[in-house]
Amino acid sequence: MPILDAFKDISLHDEPLGPYTWMKIGGPAQFLVRPRNPDELSEVVRYCHDEQIPVRMLGGGSNILVRDEGVSGAVIQLVDASFAQMSIDGATVKAGAGAALSQLISHSVKAELAGLETLSGIPGTVGGALRGNAGGRSGDIGQFVDSVTTMNAKGEISTRRGNDLWFGYRESNVDDLVILEATFALAPGDSQEITRRMRKLWIMKKATQPLSFQSAGCIFKNPRGLSAGSLIEQAGLKGIRVGQAEISDRHANFIVTHPNARSEDVLRLIDLARSKISEQFGVDLELEIKIW
Ligand SMILES: Cc1cc2nc3c(=O)[nH]c(=O)nc-3n(C[C@H](O)[C@H](O)[C@H](O)COP(=O)(O)OP(=O)(O)OC[C@H]3O[C@@H](n4cnc5c(N)ncnc54)[C@H](O)[C@@H]3O)c2cc1C
Repeated sequence: MPILDAFKDISLHDEPLGPYTWMKIGGPAQFLVRPRNPDELSEVVRYCHDEQIPVRMLGGGSNILVRDEGVSGAVIQLVDASFAQMSIDGATVKAGAGAALSQLISHSVKAELAGLETLSGIPGTVGGALRGNAGGRSGDIGQFVDSVTTMNAKGEISTRRGNDLWFGYRESNVDDLVILEATFALAPGDSQEITRRMRKLWIMKKATQPLSFQSAGCIFKNPRGLSAGSLIEQAGLKGIRVGQAEISDRHANFIVTHPNARSEDVLRLIDLARSKISEQFGVDLELEIKIW
């Protein structure tokens, strides 16, 4: 495979990806590339396209499990400030995909704009949230999206809005290689009221999810009308351990990792949960996390 020599100022070779993910495990990326601006990003993407180098986008790493053997090709991270710009125009907020979702929420709340506070406590970036339509019982990010600007594998930029955008349960049709930025249509609100709502959501999340452990959020999507967590719990798998990975005893749809865990441990637990649930309830659990 050709080496990304032309981009050696902005790439790390054989960079372990564990530290960039919430699971804190997994092997290296052949190249971890951090473009310094959108033009450089476009050059990298085009080069990889022409040289047939596989490209993956890494956001905050809160929904990714990297295999122990790592990944070949380029992993691109939008960490430069130019990818995290935010601005407000009336009740519309624009945010770069590299911005933390929490920053977008606090920016909106400060401007007395309501809506996005429903996503409080969800880790990661704006780009990752848009890709997987992050959300919870009280709503998801897609319902506030006005437009999304993306870059395709050839480095071409386009913007979609309205009927060209679709957001479903933990998925969206925003599937171009790179999500660059988005605008959100919010509603004027009282900042004290919004903050109260945020605090309530945060308390609920803390009470039900193992937030102080290393995890990647919910492992499986909830099957229609069912809860993956309660199926796993009913199958008696809560607290079960493979190597240094464990099905959380707080929330059975979370796998938490202990020191020296390997991705293989997590993958074996995933297989175990899937086969038990299929045997006992005839339900095939679909992954919510992305496995690299
Ligand atoms: C403790 C904890 C609690 C969580 N709670 C929730 C919750 O309540 N609701 C919920 O929905 N999720 C939850 N999650 C999962 C996770 O936080 C979300 O899926 C989040 O939106 C992922 O964002 P990220 O930036 O970390 O994406 P990553 O994990 O880095 O990537 C996820 C996917 O998005 C893609 N991606 C990332 N950035 C871009 C980009 N700029 N362009 C194109 N593709 C991109 C990646 O390639 C990958 O396919 C939780 C996770 C943890 C660890």
